[in-house]
Amino acid sequence: MTESYTGACQCGRVRYHFNADGAQAYLCHCRKCQRATGGFAAALVTVPGGVVWESQPAWYQSSPIARRPFCPDCGTPLGFAYDDGASESAVDVSYGSLDEPERFAPTAHFGTESIHECWIDTSALPRQRSDATQSVTRRWAAAGLEVPE
Ligand SMILES: [Zn+2]
Ligand SMILES: [Zn+2]
Repeated sequence: MTESYTGACQCGRVRYHFNADGAQAYLCHCRKCQRATGGFAAALVTVPGGVVWESQPAWYQSSPIARRPFCPDCGTPLGFAYDDGASESAVDVSYGSLDEPERFAPTAHFGTESIHECWIDTSALPRQRSDATQSVTRRWAAAGLEVPE
């Protein structure tokens, strides 16, 4: 049976699903992806079979060869697509927008001409949970809520 995956923007306005056949996760380090996501790299999942948008994203033409879907309400970057992709729906979705991102592990680095090496292996850095950080828990408590996962 084919596994299906789902995802959404932060506010939930834009939702999508896709068939996992051949889907692979990777990091793109190109400057376009750094700008588009605000991160040191873009974590993306290539979806060869294409994505079904349950509600339509907005699109930004980020270069003469590619465009990027995003939520017009909350601004979540939802991925990347070449203008001449294999199909109209062919897209790489943003890893963090998946409902269960932990189901994918990265398989490659791309755009390595702009890689920030010091961000690749951060496993030795100190770690702190949000729910163990008083300045965070106090603010959530003032909002009458628990710290979300
Ligand atoms: Zn949204
Ligand atoms: Zn890129």
